Amino acid sequence: MSTECTFPAATILGYPRIGPNRELKRAVESYWAGGIDEAGLQRVADELQDRTVARLVELGLSAADSSIPADFALYDQVLDATAALGALPARFADLAGDDGSVGTAEYFTLARGDGDRAPLELTKWFDSNYHYLVPEIGTATTFSAGAHRLTATVRRQRQRERGVVLRPVLVGPITYLLLAKAEEGSPEGFDPLSRIDDAVVAYVGILASLAEAGAEWVQLDEPGLVGDRGGELAAPGGLVERVYRQLAGTAERPALLVTTGYGTAGNPAKPGEALAVLATAGVEAVHADLVKGAKPSTEALQALGTTRLVAGVVDGRNVWRNNLQASLEVLEHLQGVTGTVVTAATSTSLLHVPHDVQAETALPEHLPAWLSFADQKVREAVVLARGLDGGRPSIAAQLQDADAALRQRARFDGVVVDRVRNRTRDLTEEAFTRGPAERRAEVQQQRLGLPVLPTTTIGSFPQTGEVRGARAAVRNGSISQAEYDQFLRQEIARVVRLQEGLGLDVLVHGEPERNDMVQYFAENFDGFAATEQGWVQSYGSRCTRPSILWGDVSRPQAFTVPWISFAQSLTERPLKGMLTGPVTILAWSFVRDDQPLGNTANQVALALRDEIADLEAAGVAIVQVDEPALRELLPLRSADHQAYLTWSVRAFRLATAGAADQTQIHTHLCYSEFGEVISAIDGLDADVTSIEAARSRLEVVEDLAGFGYSRGIGPGVYDIHSPRVPSEQEITALIRTALAALPAQQLWINPDCGLKTRGYEETVVSLRNLVAAARTVREGT
Ligand code: GLN
Ligand code: ZN
Repeated sequence: MSTECTFPAATILGYPRIGPNRELKRAVESYWAGGIDEAGLQRVADELQDRTVARLVELGLSAADSSIPADFALYDQVLDATAALGALPARFADLAGDDGSVGTAEYFTLARGDGDRAPLELTKWFDSNYHYLVPEIGTATTFSAGAHRLTATVRRQRQRERGVVLRPVLVGPITYLLLAKAEEGSPEGFDPLSRIDDAVVAYVGILASLAEAGAEWVQLDEPGLVGDRGGELAAPGGLVERVYRQLAGTAERPALLVTTGYGTAGNPAKPGEALAVLATAGVEAVHADLVKGAKPSTEALQALGTTRLVAGVVDGRNVWRNNLQASLEVLEHLQGVTGTVVTAATSTSLLHVPHDVQAETALPEHLPAWLSFADQKVREAVVLARGLDGGRPSIAAQLQDADAALRQRARFDGVVVDRVRNRTRDLTEEAFTRGPAERRAEVQQQRLGLPVLPTTTIGSFPQTGEVRGARAAVRNGSISQAEYDQFLRQEIARVVRLQEGLGLDVLVHGEPERNDMVQYFAENFDGFAATEQGWVQSYGSRCTRPSILWGDVSRPQAFTVPWISFAQSLTERPLKGMLTGPVTILAWSFVRDDQPLGNTANQVALALRDEIADLEAAGVAIVQVDEPALRELLPLRSADHQAYLTWSVRAFRLATAGAADQTQIHTHLCYSEFGEVISAIDGLDADVTSIEAARSRLEVVEDLAGFGYSRGIGPGVYDIHSPRVPSEQEITALIRTALAALPAQQLWINPDCGLKTRGYEETVVSLRNLVAAARTVREGT
């Protein structure tokens, strides 16, 4: 290790990879479709990489001092680590070359599967909306020291004019194994982390090849240490210390930066201890998340010695402009206590935020000045470093601007709306409580007169090219609003007729008017703004465009009612109104950071409550409030779960508890592993809950029965995630499985999720089989 390497004064942990115009997404999809070959894809990726480096230099980072991270995953950074380590599950063993390297085609095979081979599983990356591909580690997984792509990137950049020195980024060995699942067939209780010694050997090799390629620093991300196991692992003398002693003790390596975004690493009661442990182990720089994580203790800071502290004061997760004044104070404090220079950095990679506020042309006038996307955040880190070095006068103008924006935001009309505040303040317990569930079930049944095992769907019907085309046409003005509305009415009428023909018991309008289940609500509520270019990577080539929740939320007027009551007017059968729940609306938006999430959730809940009241007034007897993201926002540490579940469940209840006893409230959750959230689901007090279950063969009904769940439940009997059509026999068997655990009076028959991504061809046959299966079983009961 060359000892003269000092760490730069400003950096970011990572930058959006998809490109300002989603270039990478397009190139990757075109490569999959055969439009471009591997060389073509590589050309786009290299060009994007060069443009990113140039842009970051323009924003104030240096190309020569390792301040620019090299995190250019084509699909996912965890998949990159899997490929770098050659740690392939047995079913994909043939994808690695003789030297353990994984080529581009093989890399995508891991992500997408082929033939009968299922791809690696996708799962949420910490508590973000990014999803990574889960490594599968067994007792026999091999770890080889490849990292060919990363090495090639470092080498390629070094060879460019003037020699660009990037800082390669790799998921650290402990986090890598913590994120892994035991490969199928592993012995009961096998813990992937038990393979750490073999993984470390491979990391040692990777460090050597990166050093040889010319990397001066390497970044190992260890956010796994902010979870439940972090306390034990990062305690003095624990695994973290042992592993990093080994890595730091190797001769041929770049200097090491270990990052810990997404919370407080290690024992939350001893903030900073994990950093001190890493320093003791011999790591040259450690990063702390100072947005979500706690400030390291004085004791821990003093124990850092010569290890550089990289202070994550710029929020990598949200879009608000930094309070530079406050950040500078934090940095000055840290610098004072450590007695050494501190680096100004982001709390996490900027992967979670869009590229550039400047690309937005249609935001409400007041908003841009309050916002900071990736490019603005890079500048913030750079400015903070300059202020820390040169003193406040050196950044006086920037401090003033940030301060002015913050003040303007705090008193802006719409950020605090008295009418909204008074409503949330005056809430009594009654607003969260409905009548007894048994009584509700009785009056609802009198009103609805449904057969046992009622059949229904989750809400959306296939969004065909025609539907998307019409939406694009009204947006670009080639059809009028009236023409578009007429189109939507025809579409709704068609979907209602189709459902009647299929013989479903509870119908839906099909959601053709909704582009996205959250954005549609954001567009119709006050307090939200939509972006035009604000794409963020969700997984692989998939991007989402979260709305920005900037002010107090309310609902100016009913907006789902016209569509739903129109649909209801077309049929004698009960039609289910469709809303998105408060927690999901928050989870899939950028939310304001100036008040507790629970307060914001209650405002959204009241807006939904108003909509439900209007739906009831229009004669709608069933309303579904979707909460697919309920479990997603679960905090990383179990000690924090209860507090979260309390406010999130209360928000759902606030949204729905205004409904009369004879209005049936449904909810839909997009997963089947309930574990500890089962009592929270019970706490939602919905009359009927539909859940995903087909892929796990309805295992969840046992859990529900064991818990004593007594309300209506619709475990999905049709897996909508693939075009495969389930046969009538198959669905019949699943229904019988459910009936073995739960009484027929409780069961609903429905697909796993909305049908939006499906085609009509398979949807119609599948639903026909679903209805037939329900009838068959009904006759037998
Ligand atoms: N009602 C929504 C739909 O059917 C639910 C989608 C979801 O759960 N993600 O599309
Ligand atoms: Zn779903």
